[in-house]
Amino acid sequence: SPQIVWLRRDLRLADQPAFHAAAKLGPVIPVYVLDDERAGDHAYRGASRVWLHHSLESLGKTLGSRHSRIVLRKGDAPQVLAALAHEIGAGCIHALRHYEPWWKHAEDELRDALGDACKLCLYDGNYLLPPGSVTTGSGDPYKIYTPFSKAMLDCMPPRDPLPDPETIHSPDSWPESDDLADWGLLPTSPDWAGGIRAFWDFGEAAAQERLDWWAHEVGAYDEGRNLPSQDVTSRLSPHLHWGEISPAQVWHKLKDKRSEGWRTFAKELIWRDYAQNVIDQFPDYPRKSYRDYDERKLWRNPDAGHLIRADLECWQKGMTGYPIVDAGMRQLWQTGWMHNRVRMIAASFLVKHLLIDWRHGEQWFWDTLVDADYGNNGVNWQWISGTGVDSNMFVRIMAPLSQSEKFDAADYIRTYVPELADLSDAEIHDPPDAKRGAYPAKMIGHKEARERALEAYRSAK
Ligand code: FAD
Repeated sequence: SPQIVWLRRDLRLADQPAFHAAAKLGPVIPVYVLDDERAGDHAYRGASRVWLHHSLESLGKTLGSRHSRIVLRKGDAPQVLAALAHEIGAGCIHALRHYEPWWKHAEDELRDALGDACKLCLYDGNYLLPPGSVTTGSGDPYKIYTPFSKAMLDCMPPRDPLPDPETIHSPDSWPESDDLADWGLLPTSPDWAGGIRAFWDFGEAAAQERLDWWAHEVGAYDEGRNLPSQDVTSRLSPHLHWGEISPAQVWHKLKDKRSEGWRTFAKELIWRDYAQNVIDQFPDYPRKSYRDYDERKLWRNPDAGHLIRADLECWQKGMTGYPIVDAGMRQLWQTGWMHNRVRMIAASFLVKHLLIDWRHGEQWFWDTLVDADYGNNGVNWQWISGTGVDSNMFVRIMAPLSQSEKFDAADYIRTYVPELADLSDAEIHDPPDAKRGAYPAKMIGHKEARERALEAYRSAK
């Protein structure tokens, strides 16, 4: 009988256990359902929709070259899939497990809707280890990264990656499919996605190429990863997020490197698993703080007044007067990505210097990142703002100007804040007033902001 492969953030053929299993059992019908309702405030937005379009297009072409295709449908995923399974008499729906709460609910609903006629077969494959499987001695899931990471390292390497399915048999007739172009995932007027297309290649082959490149560079990661002016991080994040490549593939490609760079990189990959473990335990993590603060006293609320809304907008547009923050926010807007060190500085600036609730930052990143990920984004925002279940504290306030100098961000600033391009290395991190030209003055001084944040923290505690 025909086998459905339900695709979500796993848009690849190699090391895709659902594809692999389905291909052994019968003709395969790969299906992607665009379900815009289920995720509520975390439905795919701007940059994610652009990536999704190109990734589906790319996988569709690869499947086309193997006489297969992707069936595209829109609507409530469990209902659409159950109806399709009924229509074609499918034997089984194969899918990788996903840990966003709306997908976990969808999997339960789908199982109920299918009844006995068709089975739902779920597989692990998007994380180094299945989230929830690494536990403390007493069997509880970890809340803190460092012990989690140690326990994970003890279980590495992950299983060997699976090869591409050798043959993918097509059904005698294909079910109806929407046309990808009709989904309107790409912006039209204005087309703001040009910068994203220029910065990225999409799809499984591009992810593999990037990994091949990274295998030569990873040795420099330990030193280089904090330097935004240099290209010394993998930039695999959107490929990993959309499942164009699996972390097991990444691990096995690099595991013999034996450099300090590789060891540090491995810990970053483990952060990605950690984030999924956190949302698996705390499904609302990207929406809700977990510390005992009186948050009404901690944040200035952007909905409460136009002044604060204007501050949020300055941050979003990269007009704060802090060159490193603005370079990051403009890189994000243009390319859909921001260097990790700068993400930390820009996020800290929003929550500590401007005292704006981290959720506004989380939502802006959700809209503008091509790697916007429910787990990674929520966990990192809570980590920066010191409001989560991890060990980080609100009182750790990053100093943007000295960070910019320390990590040598001058060329990075020149690229993304061109109005400062002529300033010297000595002046560009904190331009003197006379040399700012059209570039704005600082929204608030660092010392003043730091004192205000500490005062807010004291009153909220
Ligand atoms: P590399 O440095 O090459 O790291 C390799 C991979 O490890 C990354 O591709 C990513 O999958 C994973 N990784 C690295 N750092 C982290 C981390 N801190 N947390 C979780 N996984 C990590 N990452 C996302 O993938 N999606 C997000 O939505 C996201 N939001 C963030 C929000 C904030 C406020 C901050 C501070 C960080 C966020 N990150 C997010 C984490 C990190 O910034 C990116 O994963 C990284 O910059 C991606 O670039 P890279 O692929 O070159 O990373």
